[in-house]
Amino acid sequence: MEQTLKILVVDGDEAERVAVHCALVQSGVHMEVSEASNGIDAISTLRNTNYDCVFLNYHLPDQNALTIIQKLRFWEIQVPIVVLTTIPDEEIVVELLKAGATDYLSKSTASSEILLRVVRNAIRVYRAEKQVELTNQQLRESHEQLIRKHQELEKQRQQIQLQNLKLLEASRFKSQFLATMSHELRTPMNAIIGFSQILLRPKFGQLTHQQTDMVERIFNNGKHLLMLLNEVLDFSKLETGRLDLKAEIFDISKVINTTVAEMRSLAEAKKLSLLVQIDLQNTLVFNDPVRVKQILVNLLSNAIKFTESGEVWVEIKELPANRVAITVRDTGIGIAPRDFTHIFEAFRQVDQSITRKYPGTGLGLAIVDSLVRMMNGKIFLESQLGVGSLFRIELPRQVTSPNVGIDHPSLNLNGEEIFCAAQNPHLSTLQSGKSLKKYPNYKT
Ligand code: ADP
Repeated sequence: MEQTLKILVVDGDEAERVAVHCALVQSGVHMEVSEASNGIDAISTLRNTNYDCVFLNYHLPDQNALTIIQKLRFWEIQVPIVVLTTIPDEEIVVELLKAGATDYLSKSTASSEILLRVVRNAIRVYRAEKQVELTNQQLRESHEQLIRKHQELEKQRQQIQLQNLKLLEASRFKSQFLATMSHELRTPMNAIIGFSQILLRPKFGQLTHQQTDMVERIFNNGKHLLMLLNEVLDFSKLETGRLDLKAEIFDISKVINTTVAEMRSLAEAKKLSLLVQIDLQNTLVFNDPVRVKQILVNLLSNAIKFTESGEVWVEIKELPANRVAITVRDTGIGIAPRDFTHIFEAFRQVDQSITRKYPGTGLGLAIVDSLVRMMNGKIFLESQLGVGSLFRIELPRQVTSPNVGIDHPSLNLNGEEIFCAAQNPHLSTLQSGKSLKKYPNYKT
């Protein structure tokens, strides 16, 4: 069923009002038509009752249609308005439409049919306009919301950036502090080690058994402390990118054998077998022997430290693509898979408690990780709690990372000078496996 339309006809002339009223009623559509004879009545009626459409004569006894429309807008009364004029004046029509009239109609053409059409059109246009207005309003609101969100995000981004800068600054200070402290502490430490070593020499006077024991303790603890300080210094250098690899050609099997020999006493003290297997056709590599040894020392000392009984193995073998793999394996306490990544982070240990059984700074693996990265190598870890652990380092036979530096010109295996690992084609001779003895420039 069609809904009843509520129409208000506003005209000062009663005859004209009745004519429009009758024409509307005759249209056959169900309408409830009310009348007002002046602007004041029209406004008060519209403030109290909702209408579907208003027919407003341009000239009213108290004011004209333009003023009424402006007042209705002021009171925020929303209704489609059709202005009735005798002869439409173009300028007035434009002003009326601008002010908010929905349509206009010349009274001379106002038959019932046209009036009905105008009513329907006015309602449709009015609703469409309202819909557009609503949609625009919603769009404006979401646009404003987006702008607010964007501003909030921007503020957060700036805060995060500021936090990051502060963190970087704090981290830089920490590294600087670590580097300075460990460097400063090394000088008195070296004096303690040096003088205790001198005291142990018989030519400086015979010490009693107890005195010798005490000086030996000073010497050994001093060496241990120096090792810890060096670890901290190396780590701070690695963190700030100030550590360079001093690459040269060397026999990696010799470095492995020497390191194992140096650490054998530690294994023996715990009654552990320390086994070495070198399975290389060519034992020569181009790398920093000090840093390769440091990797091995860190892995081996961990293997010995975390193993109570059984064995520790060191193996080295060739890999395809001119790479070598160094494996350190133990039958120790093992590492749970959830700790695999953490243990390579600085100062991270599986047991972080103060009462932990195994001493250490928690820097050993972080240093190994950074050094292996610098050498363009990879670390693999396999471990099982209570069974043991296996750390495998895969390294290119010749390092070419940007941090590789060569202190002094060295010779390659053909006795030619080399300056840069990446540029020197003769380094391919590393693959030939010739003995080093022929080359006097080889440094150990
Ligand atoms: P640190 O040995 O000084 O504690 P590391 O960085 O060398 O520091 O090692 C970090 C942690 O990784 C150790 O505290 C230990 O929990 C674990 N870990 C390293 N190597 C082994 C190993 N061979 N067996 C068992 N746990 C190990």
